[in-house]
Amino acid sequence: MEMTYQISELFTSVQGEGEVMGIPSHFIRLYRCDLTCAWCDSKYTWVRQDQAVEGKDYTSMSMDEILAWLPKETRVPLVTLTGGEPMLQSLLPLVAALDTRGYQVVVETNGLHTPEQALLDLVRHWAVSPKLKNAGMTDVAWGPLDWLGKAQNYYLKFVICNPVLDLPEVQEFVESRGLPNSKVILQPDGFTPDYEAALRRLTEFVRDRGSPYRVLPQLHRLLWGLRRGV
Ligand code: SF4
Repeated sequence: MEMTYQISELFTSVQGEGEVMGIPSHFIRLYRCDLTCAWCDSKYTWVRQDQAVEGKDYTSMSMDEILAWLPKETRVPLVTLTGGEPMLQSLLPLVAALDTRGYQVVVETNGLHTPEQALLDLVRHWAVSPKLKNAGMTDVAWGPLDWLGKAQNYYLKFVICNPVLDLPEVQEFVESRGLPNSKVILQPDGFTPDYEAALRRLTEFVRDRGSPYRVLPQLHRLLWGLRRGV
């Protein structure tokens, strides 16, 4: 049976985060999420998911329809699978087809779902974003995240609302799992009205404390604010 995916939106833009920031990318945003982060910037992928209506809240697309949306020539090198939580849908067939067509696949995930080995072999970059208490959920069991050790490449993204409260939590999270500090990227909450000031505050805090983490902005937030589909 042909694979079908619940799609929130498809668009082509530039990767705005992490290791691949600035690289042109096609984006496949999958519908549904298993978390309810307070500062989520894509709530439209899950707020009505219990009563979701096909054609209104999401579009059902076969794998072939998704592949047909992509241009024939792969001038844009990346395809980013994002959400929502893309790992709630069966990504392997889609990722394998994209890999065969010459795309490098980035998967943006909250990290709660351990990928199968075949998926780990194909995905070039995992953008993993565990949530701190500032997301409003305190009972999420993140597990050891030991699958990251088998990934081709990954980074850990943490959204920071209050550096004083959040940085010790980041430190505890990575140290208790033996994850390398070099993989940690901090970024300010995108909903902060004065984003540049928040970015400056976070950067100066990290600098002044001698924290071993990188601070990066969301490029799309700087360029286009909170607009969708960019
Ligand atoms: S995991 Fe991501 S998509 Fe899901 S609620 Fe949190 S920020 Fe939003």
